[in-house]
Amino acid sequence: MTKDLKLFFKPEVTALRAYSLEPHETSIKINQNENPWETPEKIKKATLRQFENYRWSRYPPFISSDLEERLAAFAGWKPNGVLAGNGSNELIQALLMVTIAAGKSVLISEPTFTLYRQVATILGGEVLSVRMTPDFLYDVGAIIESIEEHKPSVVILCSPNNPTGTRIPDDALRRILTSSSGLVVIDEAYHEFSEHTVVPLLEEFDNLIVLRTFSKAMALAALRVGYLLGQPQSVIEIRKALLPYNLNLFSQTAAGVALDSYDGELRPLVGRILIERDRLFTEIGQLQGFSPIPTTANFMIVCSELEPKVVFDHLLKRDILIRDVSRYPMLDKYFRLSVGTPDENDRLLEGLKELVS
Ligand code: PMP
Repeated sequence: MTKDLKLFFKPEVTALRAYSLEPHETSIKINQNENPWETPEKIKKATLRQFENYRWSRYPPFISSDLEERLAAFAGWKPNGVLAGNGSNELIQALLMVTIAAGKSVLISEPTFTLYRQVATILGGEVLSVRMTPDFLYDVGAIIESIEEHKPSVVILCSPNNPTGTRIPDDALRRILTSSSGLVVIDEAYHEFSEHTVVPLLEEFDNLIVLRTFSKAMALAALRVGYLLGQPQSVIEIRKALLPYNLNLFSQTAAGVALDSYDGELRPLVGRILIERDRLFTEIGQLQGFSPIPTTANFMIVCSELEPKVVFDHLLKRDILIRDVSRYPMLDKYFRLSVGTPDENDRLLEGLKELVS
């Protein structure tokens, strides 16, 4: 038993850190950009009622075509251009599995969601990273230069970007789509909070793919539902990398109910989150030593004169969990927080005030 088992694994995998978070239990959890409001009771009850009538002993449909049709109607796109997945994470993985291998590259703009780099690296691809500008905007000139030089198979941009909250303007995206000879993926996990979508550009650009999730504004993170929008031909290829029955029937049912209830139940919660986001941004900005960065999402990064770890530990003692993002490129002085309920935000502000008084 002296053998180093690492030898069994790909060197690019053994060199990676696992994508995970330390498990802290707190009553205020604002570290994962989730919806702070619990899933509305109406959605839970309608889901349970519907689900009771299904046969649990049988496989769900091979393809969740009923849900995919409803997703298409909701997003304003063709039903055969939709792919439902077990969270958008699964769709990121499937998309990279069918495009990336040794010798292929993926372009990302960092700091961004770490999973893109993780999956591309595991698949043996090269990751091309373009830094954001010092004020955390997309450096469109540098992105296009890198596309022209390296011709990546896939460009993945997150808009609004996790963790900076930055959105890519449509005219910039048009230029990127035109200059790219590969796929351009826009991860719209937080689009509801920015009140903007690039879905209309799918009519114009064959190489555009849009990713969305039910884990944020749709308040269903525990049920793991995401979807991808693209040209039907791309969907046919990407679907090949999904395992059969990837999306369980309970999650399909809840997602359908959430779509029906979006305007009545979920959109109002988004509105409340936006009001609280603006209040938090103003109030944190008035504290000595903390500068929040303007955001179009339900979270923000804050530049801190105190070490982010000190802020993290202090808030943890007060039963509040934020995200220390100081290991991300460019973010050594930053922490990230998502917008909570008004009470949670009051307690966060009290905790931050203690640090500066
Ligand atoms: N994309 C981005 C930008 C995210 O921040 C997250 C969640 N942190 C995801 C995708 C994954 O979402 P899901 O829960 O749908 O897998």
